[in-house]
Amino acid sequence: MIDEKKLDNDCFPDVLGQEKVKYDIKSAILSKRHILIAGPAGVGKTTLAKSIAKVLPSLSVIAGCPFHCTPAQRVCPSCKKAKELKTITLVGEERFVRVQGSPDLTVEDLIGDIDPIKALHFGPLSMEAFTPGKIFQANNGILFFDELNRCPEKLQNALLQVLQEKKVTIGSYQVDIEADFLFIATMNPDDTNTEKLSDVLLDRFDIIRMSYPETAGVELEIIDKYGQKIVAVPKEMSQFIVSFIRLLRQAKDIERKPSVRATLGLYERSQANAVLKKKKKVDLEDIQEALFSVLAHRITLRPAVRYVLAPEEFLQKEFTSMLKTGMGREFRENKGDVP
Ligand SMILES: [Zn+2]
Repeated sequence: MIDEKKLDNDCFPDVLGQEKVKYDIKSAILSKRHILIAGPAGVGKTTLAKSIAKVLPSLSVIAGCPFHCTPAQRVCPSCKKAKELKTITLVGEERFVRVQGSPDLTVEDLIGDIDPIKALHFGPLSMEAFTPGKIFQANNGILFFDELNRCPEKLQNALLQVLQEKKVTIGSYQVDIEADFLFIATMNPDDTNTEKLSDVLLDRFDIIRMSYPETAGVELEIIDKYGQKIVAVPKEMSQFIVSFIRLLRQAKDIERKPSVRATLGLYERSQANAVLKKKKKVDLEDIQEALFSVLAHRITLRPAVRYVLAPEEFLQKEFTSMLKTGMGREFRENKGDVP
């Protein structure tokens, strides 16, 4: 599917850091194994999966075929029958089909359904009346399933059949159609509104675990690359933001930790606060003003702590104690801009 020359060192430039994860992904792709990327929200699982689409080579497929048949591999009845076929080129990104896992997702979304208007025209048992779903659109490409553990159990069973047999039985037609794709899914193991993935389904995947940026340096690079820039952020202020978030991730009283989106949020909102006060650059006061709105709902305290402290109080306490110690003291003494 992808030759190893495309998988060179910096083939996923959108994802900063995460070297081990990237290495494992390349290894899984090269061996054509289905991958489940597991990790907390906001660490770049989706960004990583999307960047895999960019290394997919283009492919020549039969023009107009919704099952993405290739001249060598004709899976649908009409391509099988046809004598002369025109081909078109699909670029890598067109071979990448995304499905958003949700409790409302149906088996028909994945496999396809009979179009009632076409059924009237062609007859209910004619293949022309069938509109193929995501699985067939991903044939000869990648099916990317975001938040796999959010979809209902019925759907897991449908997926299992495709992964096991590489074909799908289309109910009322009594025909099997092949679907060959690389399956990449993501899941957040801490997500509570989810279905448990069955062991037989998990057995179809290699799991690659992804976590928060490895170092403060990598996280600084991320906010520099992806954060909006409205006003100057002195280096020590962006360092303070990153250190504060990383400190919260280590706090034993926090169950649900702030993601990289929280870091970006604090970075962008503190700039906006500085602009509103007509300042030329961000200082600690601007960061503090953004704390509650950016962070209070992005953390969950341990039950024992939850009874005594609101998230806002907890954040204020941590912020104050960071200012008093180590890095914070340096800001207070040198910059004189502690709120
Ligand atoms: Zn076809």
